[in-house]
Amino acid sequence: RAKDEGRGRHRFFSRSIHEASLARQLLQAELRRALDQRQFSLVYQPKVNLWTRQVLGVEALLRWTRPDGRPISPLEFIPLAEASGLIVPLGAWVLETACQQSRAWAQASGEELAVSVNISAVQFTDPGFVDMVERCLRNTGLPPRLLELELTESMLITDIARVQQTLRALQALEVCVSIDDFGTGYSSLSYLQNFPVQTLKIDRSFLKTVPDDPQASAVVEAVIALGRSLNLGVIAEGVETTEQARCLLNLGCAAMQGYLFGRPMAAPELLAWVQEWHRGGDSWEET
Ligand code: C2E
Ligand code: MG
Ligand code: MG
Ligand code: MG
Repeated sequence: RAKDEGRGRHRFFSRSIHEASLARQLLQAELRRALDQRQFSLVYQPKVNLWTRQVLGVEALLRWTRPDGRPISPLEFIPLAEASGLIVPLGAWVLETACQQSRAWAQASGEELAVSVNISAVQFTDPGFVDMVERCLRNTGLPPRLLELELTESMLITDIARVQQTLRALQALEVCVSIDDFGTGYSSLSYLQNFPVQTLKIDRSFLKTVPDDPQASAVVEAVIALGRSLNLGVIAEGVETTEQARCLLNLGCAAMQGYLFGRPMAAPELLAWVQEWHRGGDSWEET
């Protein structure tokens, strides 16, 4: 009796595992077609400095809308694209599109908006990566100082010699590099000073409980202090409330990104947002 139950359960589990992997495979096949069929698009989220009132730039975020209209989160499809290697051509498309967009904004409005692009580990370790970045800058004519690559901490700690080499090559191109989701990985602080990176992005998870949770506030303070002592820029992501913004200002961090200021937007909407920000720009204080 117990044995039967055990066997039944085993059958049940293996079927659901099988179904899950089938679903993954189907999604992966769809993903491969999606690039050809232009189902991907980019949205752009502003980064601002609350002291200077500057718009620091925008982060490009990838969106996939399936033909049935259903959006799939990058948190779901990026790992699949990484597993299949599709991230390499897809990532190249993202970079090219983001660079083109920044150029197009400058031409249409005179607004020079720096653009940040998220880079996956698989892309970063691809031997053709730096060449691809260089080609992209050449093809689009974007000044390299207007391009920032967002890497994550975990990408920097494996094969450090090679990472250093890639970062130096990017530095030679005059492209900026930031460390995304900072504080969630395991980056060794001693290595950090040897990496040619310019900015630390404090992960959203620490902001969630600021200012109420003293421990989260302590992490935020520590990252700000670290940035100051290593002469790196610090920006906080995921700022949703005025309390969080005020708290960050008090701690000495004026660079912020989050729903409080602007959600990720389609390109035309973003330009309108920037113009509105320059006109008034303090609507966030009233929310
Ligand atoms: P990320 O680079 O850390 O991007 C920040 C994420 O937080 C974005 O989610 C953004 O929409 C969201 N966000 C921004 N402000 C707020 C806020 O105030 N509150 C909350 N709750 N969320 C906020 P999204 O667009 O779903 O992207 C998720 C992740 O997917 C990104 O995290 C990034 O790791 C990855 N990703 C997105 N686009 C690309 C891409 O083009 N290439 C690669 N390799 N990864 C990408
Ligand atoms: Mg990012
Ligand atoms: Mg981030
Ligand atoms: Mg994050």
